Amino acid sequence: MMTGESNKCAVCNEPASKRCQRCRRSWYCRREHQVSDWQSHKAQCNAIAADNSHAIHKMEFDRIRVRYGLESPENAEKIAEMLANTSGGVSAPEFASMFGMSTTEAVVFLEWIKIGVKFKEEVLDGAKNSGLS
Ligand SMILES: [Zn+2]
Ligand SMILES: [Zn+2]
Repeated sequence: MMTGESNKCAVCNEPASKRCQRCRRSWYCRREHQVSDWQSHKAQCNAIAADNSHAIHKMEFDRIRVRYGLESPENAEKIAEMLANTSGGVSAPEFASMFGMSTTEAVVFLEWIKIGVKFKEEVLDGAKNSGLS
């Protein structure tokens, strides 16, 4: 357990022992204050939660990418081609069997690509550069 300097209720500034279970950053002295703070905390909370899951997702994506050598030019090209042909709609099992990964991993990978990311730009740019587009 961390000894908290900052464990003060976000509403009344009293010592707080409960925190938002979602973002784990905002502290409250009692449930009523958490509830009453929700309207103003919601946006921040969503941002933090999204950020956390984003970071975890990115880590997982990188792990998969390295593990299955998806960043090799050959595979990057394959993926780019696939995405170009299916507008991102390739199924996870299909993708999984293509690269010998589990469906769960394929889901993580494809989700991340859908979220819109650098890797997609990289592979699509790579594809363009290699005359695939
Ligand atoms: Zn309070
Ligand atoms: Zn929160």
